[in-house]
Amino acid sequence: MKIVGLTGGIGSGKTTVAKQFMGLGIPVYIADEEAKKLMATSKIIQRKLIQLFGNEAYMNNQLNKPYIANIIFNDKTYLQKMNAIVHPKVAQHFKKWVLKQTSPYIIKEVAILFENGGHQQCDYVITVTAPLKLRMERVLKRDNTTKENVEAIVKNQWTDAEKVKRSHFVITNTDLESTKNQVVKIHNQILKSLA
Ligand code: ATP
Repeated sequence: MKIVGLTGGIGSGKTTVAKQFMGLGIPVYIADEEAKKLMATSKIIQRKLIQLFGNEAYMNNQLNKPYIANIIFNDKTYLQKMNAIVHPKVAQHFKKWVLKQTSPYIIKEVAILFENGGHQQCDYVITVTAPLKLRMERVLKRDNTTKENVEAIVKNQWTDAEKVKRSHFVITNTDLESTKNQVVKIHNQILKSLA
């Protein structure tokens, strides 16, 4: 089973591309979604996050995101501490998930794949790119957020150029039709490389 990492900056269209691979029958693991689910369901994670952030880390068994985001905003070391709790659990969950798949390859979508060194565990990496202005417009339309918040996230991510240099495949996601064509082409190239 080959592991294909799918990454790209905020609003580039990773999830959009991931869904197109799903349409071709390829299983997709969306790391951020699984992390969110595990933070809501894993008792071990809950206990450790409460130890780190205090009892207010959870409200009615749900992660108290605004409270945690505020702490992290004021002290970035808390993000690393939180990741040190959540990431090993996601990695464990991913390993088990991979064992259950039967396709020639799977896609693992991770927003900060290179930044966290996760690309080292991938056989191939696909980076999704789009002009920054377009990405900003998409995120502002999709989320209840501000330009400043999105800019802060962009600042914490590698630039497209840095990611592209280290990627096996690049998808330019500006119009959906062209993106789908690129996805099909890459899918066929990956299958061919595995034959
Ligand atoms: P994030 O890093 O924030 O999770 P992402 O890289 O996964 O984002 P998506 O959620 O796939 O990006 O796309 C961001 C928004 O832009 C979504 O609302 C999506 O529907 C829209 N979008 C993505 N690609 C296109 C496109 N080619 N044309 C029009 N809209 C698009």
